[in-house]
Amino acid sequence: MSPSRIASRILRVKPSPSSAAADRAAALRRAGKKIVNLVVGEPDFDTPRHIREAACAAIERGETRYTQNAGTPALRQAIADKLSRENALRYDPKQIVVTCGAKHAIFNALSVTVEPGDEVLIPAPYWVSYPDMVIACEGTPVVLPCAESNDFKLDAATLRAALTPRSRWLLLNSPTNPTGATYTREDLRALADVLLDFPDVLVLTDDIYEHISYTDGPLVHLGAVEPALLPRLVIVNGVSKTYAMTGWRIGYAAGPEDIIGAMETLQSQSTSNACSVSQAAALAALEGDQTFVREAVLTYRSRRDRAVERINATPGLSCRAPGGAFYLFVNCQGAIDRTTAGGRFLANDTDVVMYLLEEKGVAVIAGAAYGTPGYFRMSIATSIDVIEEGIRLMGEAFSDLR
Ligand code: PMP
Repeated sequence: MSPSRIASRILRVKPSPSSAAADRAAALRRAGKKIVNLVVGEPDFDTPRHIREAACAAIERGETRYTQNAGTPALRQAIADKLSRENALRYDPKQIVVTCGAKHAIFNALSVTVEPGDEVLIPAPYWVSYPDMVIACEGTPVVLPCAESNDFKLDAATLRAALTPRSRWLLLNSPTNPTGATYTREDLRALADVLLDFPDVLVLTDDIYEHISYTDGPLVHLGAVEPALLPRLVIVNGVSKTYAMTGWRIGYAAGPEDIIGAMETLQSQSTSNACSVSQAAALAALEGDQTFVREAVLTYRSRRDRAVERINATPGLSCRAPGGAFYLFVNCQGAIDRTTAGGRFLANDTDVVMYLLEEKGVAVIAGAAYGTPGYFRMSIATSIDVIEEGIRLMGEAFSDLR
């Protein structure tokens, strides 16, 4: 097909680098190569039984038809209850829309608000989809680099310096994919103080890793830290990561009625409701027993502790202990500008990642994909044996760099 048939805004959108890395690893595996896959961006657990059973029961009850475009009243109420219980935020169910995953919620929120050329501020390292979603909506992504020395968090001065009259959104993701950076009450207070000076800027918090947290006590929400931001705050969350439900495709957004209403209208003319059966499952996830979540986090935490220790004992590599999510963002600058024992020159993180994949069969994702070269992301959402083997092979790969 001639590229000219495709709309220019879509031609500018790149395919997701994480899907590309997963595809490359799968292709090598099909070709018979043993691959240690540290690319995965989803829990390695099955969806808990009580959630699966709730879905089966919904099917048997005949809940297999269209629901309201914005989601079933029961699920929207459960989300409102969750926001009140866990985040100290009061939302009416009509301020909530259920979407086909958190990704869909973010895309729709941007779609209904971004005018051509509007700037969307994105702290880097960022989740790979943010800039391309903005581009698909004809906005301009403005990347704000965040230093490793500040735990990869956005600071108030960087935010203030980036805000312009064209700024439409700030996208804030905590805990962050790919770094696990987790904003404290003080961090949020400082950002809120800047935002109060720019009343036209909307703020989207992507809370999808909220429960995958290794910090003590519950996470504080920006909206609870500064309630004056609520009229321009859109909260995005979902059940994918917390309840090992990535394939069920249930996310949601909560926010001011005009934005949520516009998202609902867009959804009514595009996807309609999220899957009815998945909505019943999500209801059971939010309202049911939470033991699974606690156990999963303990498992991730022990993997994190072990993996961080082993990475920091590997020459050429280092990483900080992430405060949440299930990734390590590994500094590989010690391996860059060096030559491997086999005579391969590693000019950047992409070379490092290709070397690890092609020579050692270890699949990770280059930091460049997250707007931050010099690093790579490795997942800990896989068994400790796979993680240990991957790091052992990394050690082998970098043992005699020249
Ligand atoms: N936000 C972030 C930061 C993510 O990492 C992901 C999943 N990779 C999503 C949103 C999308 O989640 P969902 O499966 O609910 O669409």
